[in-house]
Amino acid sequence: MAEEDQRTPPSDYDREAVRAKYLAERDKRLVPGRSATLEIRDDPELRHYLTDPFAPFVDREPVIDDAEVVIVGAGIAGLLVAVGLRQAGIDDIRLIDAAGDVGGTWYWNRYPGIMCDVESYIYMPMLEELDYIPPDRYASGEEIHAHLDAIADRYDLRRGALFHSSVERAEWNADAARWIVTTDRGDRVRSRFYILAVGILNRLKIPDLPGLSAFGGPTFHTARWNYDYTGGGPHDPLTKLADKTVAVIGTGATGIQCVEPLGAAAKHVYVLQRTPSAIGVRDNRPTPEEFAEDLGPGWQADRMDNFQSVMSGAEVETDLIDDAWTHDYATVINPKRAPGQSGADFARSIEDHDYEVMEAHRRRVAEVVEDPATAEALKPFYRYRCKRPCFHDEFLGAFNRANVELVHSPAGIERITEHGFVVDGHEYHVDCIVFASGFEAELTPIHRRAGHEVIGRSGLTLAEKWGDGAASLFGMTSRGFPNLFIMPAPGQQAVVTVNYTHLAVLGAEFVSGTIAALCRAGVRSFDVSEAAEADWIEQILARHVDGTSFLSTCTPSRINNEGDPAAMNPRNGNYGGGFGDFFGYRELLRGWLTDGRFEGFELDSGAAPA
Ligand code: NAP
Repeated sequence: MAEEDQRTPPSDYDREAVRAKYLAERDKRLVPGRSATLEIRDDPELRHYLTDPFAPFVDREPVIDDAEVVIVGAGIAGLLVAVGLRQAGIDDIRLIDAAGDVGGTWYWNRYPGIMCDVESYIYMPMLEELDYIPPDRYASGEEIHAHLDAIADRYDLRRGALFHSSVERAEWNADAARWIVTTDRGDRVRSRFYILAVGILNRLKIPDLPGLSAFGGPTFHTARWNYDYTGGGPHDPLTKLADKTVAVIGTGATGIQCVEPLGAAAKHVYVLQRTPSAIGVRDNRPTPEEFAEDLGPGWQADRMDNFQSVMSGAEVETDLIDDAWTHDYATVINPKRAPGQSGADFARSIEDHDYEVMEAHRRRVAEVVEDPATAEALKPFYRYRCKRPCFHDEFLGAFNRANVELVHSPAGIERITEHGFVVDGHEYHVDCIVFASGFEAELTPIHRRAGHEVIGRSGLTLAEKWGDGAASLFGMTSRGFPNLFIMPAPGQQAVVTVNYTHLAVLGAEFVSGTIAALCRAGVRSFDVSEAAEADWIEQILARHVDGTSFLSTCTPSRINNEGDPAAMNPRNGNYGGGFGDFFGYRELLRGWLTDGRFEGFELDSGAAPA
């Protein structure tokens, strides 16, 4: 029977009781210090959490030279913009990344069971260019990483790249019209254009738990998995855990993927859950043979558009992706108002639909998990859109193993001890602690995500400029920072997409296209005009819809600023309001580029000094 058919009719439920239950569950989690996080970058005692376990650090001489374009970050966005530049004939580019190679998030995240829950045919970029059809509907982390490697090979993007190198400072030198980029390896590169492609979820969160430093065993974050300790690989059995008890902290999109492989290998696994995720059906399956038969040129772009249309609530002839994102998430975030429906009725129908979706998730838990108490604790009680949804088919079943035990602690972990952790006054002994505790929010300002000082005209830093919120033109350029581009991301006056690759493709198209056009026009440098930036900010603010009242009813999560939605800055909103108007934004950017007048830019066309 289709999941749709099993949903409880709205008339069967007590709306008030559900609301009260959701608020009571929220309150259990709204505890002081719930988001206290260690500053691991600047603390020598904690920096080991960031050490690259995947590639040896090799000494090298500092690089002192020039490049036309420096791109910080060799993940999907950095690679795509580099490809765009190479395709536009701009050869002299230099990628810089703290990782040992390309891949970004897919370089660092190699935890057991790693997959992407956005369909592979739209998430993996440049499938047509690389003539690659993923073998499965959802790709593993290794497959995505290998694909990004293949893109780097195809376009020779490692040439000139600096890996295991972190930018410490980038400063605009007005006389030379160059960015001076220095790294922790002593490099000093002068570049005409500077592109921040530093990623969205790139700052690991290690919770500031009392007693953590006293723990006697290994601790690591899922984005630095310690295979020396666990044995095995992302999809190979973890061979060294048979006599080990492991604690996994966190049950978000990452935690739920690594529990099953841990359960299959370890003596015992404690899964520390603060808030249950809503875990929908993933239904991975091999790509049918006929899939490739009907694909014409441009099929991947069309498929990405199809997904984005469905996610935006637009009518499409066929939902090509046809998965839980497009069924559940798309319908919950784009409620349809019936003709003549009153505001109150509309609000009720939205709530009813949300309830049906959440009930289906809760029913799934009850059906899969055998122990009733564990099942109850795994049921999510909040509105669906309050938290990033998850999709997985093995996590819930892992609790039917005798060696996988849920430790449900809505208020968090009391403390860590030499031998383990304490919840509700009970000490659990473990050999190892895995932090599946996620990353700083997508809305983390760019200057923090960049992790280095970006200093523009007259010594102004990006941190100062964006101190009161984003200030940009198109979410990608900012006045006072000539020849600087920031790849689009949430929280910076661009738009948000569930399929991040789609946004990276658009950003790469715009940034590489603009740089190529500026070069063709012989422009030495550009800055954003005051009026253009003010106008863009105004457009963002004008379309801002205050969601505080709904968000404050939500369980704390990254979506509502961990329970403090009032502190969210409207200036960090998206073009078009809400998640943003992707297609409107794209049309505007493409029109601007085609128009070729660089409207909103102040151009310096003086001869570029050598
Ligand atoms: P996350 O969604 O932020 O989840 C972190 C988990 O750690 C949550 O369960 C959180 O509990 C828990 N946690 C954090 N601090 C804690 C503390 N002090 N005590 C106890 N528990 C604590 O992080 P993630 O799972 O790494 O996912 C991050 C993002 O990466 C996702 O939202 C998604 O965008 C991306 N991702 C995508 C995929 C994919 O398949 N596409 C896979 C993995 C990750 P609370 O829920 O109570 O805060």
